[in-house]
Amino acid sequence: MRLSRYFLPVLKETPSEAQIVSHRLMLRAGMIKQASAGIYSWLPLGLKVLQNIERIVHEEQAKAGHIPVLMPTLQSADLWRESGRYDDYGDEMLRLSDRHGRDMLYGPTNEEQITDIFRSHINSYKDLPLTLYQIQWKFRDEVRPRFGVMRGREFLMKDGYNFDLTKEDALHAYNRHLVAYLRTYERMGLQAIPMRADGGPVGGDYTHEFLVLAETGESEVFYDSAVTELSFGDREIDFDNVEQCASVLEEFTSRYARTDETHDEALFNEVPEERRATARGIEVGQIFYFGTKYSESMGATVVNADQKHVPVHMGSHGIGVSRLLGAIIEASHDDKGIIWPEGVTPFHVGIVNLKQGDEAADAACEALYKSVSALGLEPLYDDRKERAGGKFATMDLIGLPWRITVGPRGLKNGVVELTSRRTGESEELTPELAAARLAEIYAQH
Ligand code: ATP
Ligand code: MG
Repeated sequence: MRLSRYFLPVLKETPSEAQIVSHRLMLRAGMIKQASAGIYSWLPLGLKVLQNIERIVHEEQAKAGHIPVLMPTLQSADLWRESGRYDDYGDEMLRLSDRHGRDMLYGPTNEEQITDIFRSHINSYKDLPLTLYQIQWKFRDEVRPRFGVMRGREFLMKDGYNFDLTKEDALHAYNRHLVAYLRTYERMGLQAIPMRADGGPVGGDYTHEFLVLAETGESEVFYDSAVTELSFGDREIDFDNVEQCASVLEEFTSRYARTDETHDEALFNEVPEERRATARGIEVGQIFYFGTKYSESMGATVVNADQKHVPVHMGSHGIGVSRLLGAIIEASHDDKGIIWPEGVTPFHVGIVNLKQGDEAADAACEALYKSVSALGLEPLYDDRKERAGGKFATMDLIGLPWRITVGPRGLKNGVVELTSRRTGESEELTPELAAARLAEIYAQH
């Protein structure tokens, strides 16, 4: 993409309505535009990152054997009356009616709708296990939408639902989700710590929230600092292997790590004092086993091997896809702007032409643009007639992890400069070597 032809409405001024750094930077970098309270338009740069996050989620769900579907945002109230949640859900549910006076709602979540799909098509235990998921917009009429996309009213969520014959099978599905989520967040450059969460009205011990530590997080968290040393890495996982998935869960959840909702002071005090940590965290996902709550109320049963009709065991598993942009920026920025992790960056490299109009510099930039694109990478070429300082400031603000600077002086020696946004370190290289370096870097992401 050439910046002269792109739509990147960066702001010079810091927007006064934004209280936290990720919200400020998303507005300043021209990624989002508020449409009304807690509702945003996604501008090109923001949309690119959102789609990168979606892609990572899809890829990791596919590895776990989970199957994508897409359900509508508008749902019929009748389904929710069956489960009893139409009355229970409260003011966060946006209720509306169509021209025939039928009660509808904008889905805040989809347990009812997916259970309806399941019961319409699945009758036998032989069709289990099954996990379906979607990435779809949700609406929750939050009392206090704030912090930009972090707590929106309309927001994008990955929501997945497992259907299993037994509790044991459903707990394997739970573990599978935990494993898939660990890798998902790591690919986005995040450490998201699974923490024991509150089962809410449904109860039960089987729920974990994934938290990214950040000062601006809305949850207070208490943990054994040893959990921050765990990393999933690129280990091979067989998602059908029950023991293997269970042992990953054990490894990542056996140490004390809880939010204020489930915090237990006495248990926490058993952690050696020097490892007892408290901080704030952003909830970027949650996994949940809830048994037969919906399958019983909505009649989602299968015939088992003894020819008996039994309700299926279910769980639901969410990732805050749009919230993740805020969480990533909170975890990765400096005073100049965003620093995107390679896995989600909107463009792989920024090309800055120090002297637009200089024949040699223009030609070198064009050649680099072609060679980088030919590697399957997407460059953003700042081809505007602007001062170098302004070009650098824009690149720093929008946070591309790598920048190639091209100027007449370097070109006389046959070199360009490759700079890391994260460390600020630069290397002088021939244009060919610079492109090769990028290929090497991105091969790992
Ligand atoms: P919270 O406690 O933050 O209100 P929740 O526990 O109600 O969230 P879930 O139902 O678990 O949310 O939804 C799954 C994920 O969706 C959450 O982990 C979070 O990352 C994201 N999410 C929930 N509410 C919002 C919101 N209002 N705006 C953006 N993302 C959200
Ligand atoms: Mg939650």
